[in-house]
Amino acid sequence: HVKSAGRGAACVFQAAMNEAAKARHALERELREALAQGAFELHYQPLVDLGGGRITGMEALLRWRHPERGLVSPGTFIPLAEETGLIVPLGRWVLEQACRDAATWPAHVSLAVNVSAAQLRHRGFAEGVLAALEAAGIGPGRLELEMTETVLLEDTETNLETLHGLRRAGIRISMDDFGTGYSSLGYLRRFPFDKIKIDRSFVRDLDRAAEAGMIMRTLLGLGANLGIATLVEGIETRAQLEAVRAAGCRQVQGYLFSPPRPLTETYAMLSEPPTALAAA
Ligand code: C2E
Ligand code: MG
Ligand code: MG
Ligand code: MG
Repeated sequence: HVKSAGRGAACVFQAAMNEAAKARHALERELREALAQGAFELHYQPLVDLGGGRITGMEALLRWRHPERGLVSPGTFIPLAEETGLIVPLGRWVLEQACRDAATWPAHVSLAVNVSAAQLRHRGFAEGVLAALEAAGIGPGRLELEMTETVLLEDTETNLETLHGLRRAGIRISMDDFGTGYSSLGYLRRFPFDKIKIDRSFVRDLDRAAEAGMIMRTLLGLGANLGIATLVEGIETRAQLEAVRAAGCRQVQGYLFSPPRPLTETYAMLSEPPTALAAA
């Protein structure tokens, strides 16, 4: 009896596994087709400098224009693209398109592009980045590559060499989602990041818990002491903006200023100071 129940459960489990594998394969095929058909697009979210009161950069965020599901966010397909290696051609497209788009902005506006560990690891990554800049006619000083600490977790020596090479070429490297990994501090010693982007999870509790403000001040102070620029992600409210400003923050990003928007909508954003900074 017990045995047959076990067998039954195993069958159900096996069936579920097969379904999941099928769904993965279907998604993988869809992603390949989407790339071939030009169904991906980039949206841009401003990076706002509080000192100068203006937009100093734009972060490219990938979206998939799906015929039935509408605009699909990267969280649902980037992990599979990374596992299957599709992130390499997809990421290459992102870099090329983003550089072309950035060429249409004023020269003081930098471009931030997210890069996966799987891209960095790939031979020819650095050459691809330089070729994208060259083709678009923008200087390496305008590009910031954002990566999470996983790039330093795996394949450390090669990744470090690539990062140093990119940096020597004048490209800046930012650590994204700072504070969410288990050893973020250690990685700051291993590689000289140009900027740390403090994860938005640290912002959420700012208007509620006193220790959240203390942690924020500590993280910002860490950047200041190390001579690394800092940016706080995920600012949604004026109260949060005032709290991080009081904690010493100079650069921010978040829905309060703008959600990610298509290229055509970036020009209006860039032509005037962010309204969220106007005197209330
Ligand atoms: P990320 O680089 O940390 O990007 C920030 C994410 O937070 C974006 O989600 C953005 O839309 C969202 N966000 C911005 N401001 C706010 C806010 O005030 N509140 C809240 N709740 N969220 C905010 P998105 O666009 O869904 O991207 C998710 C992640 O996908 C990115 O996190 C990045 O890790 C990855 N990603 C996006 N585009 C690319 C890409 O072209 N290549 C690679 N490799 N990864 C990408
Ligand atoms: Mg990012
Ligand atoms: Mg982030
Ligand atoms: Mg993230």
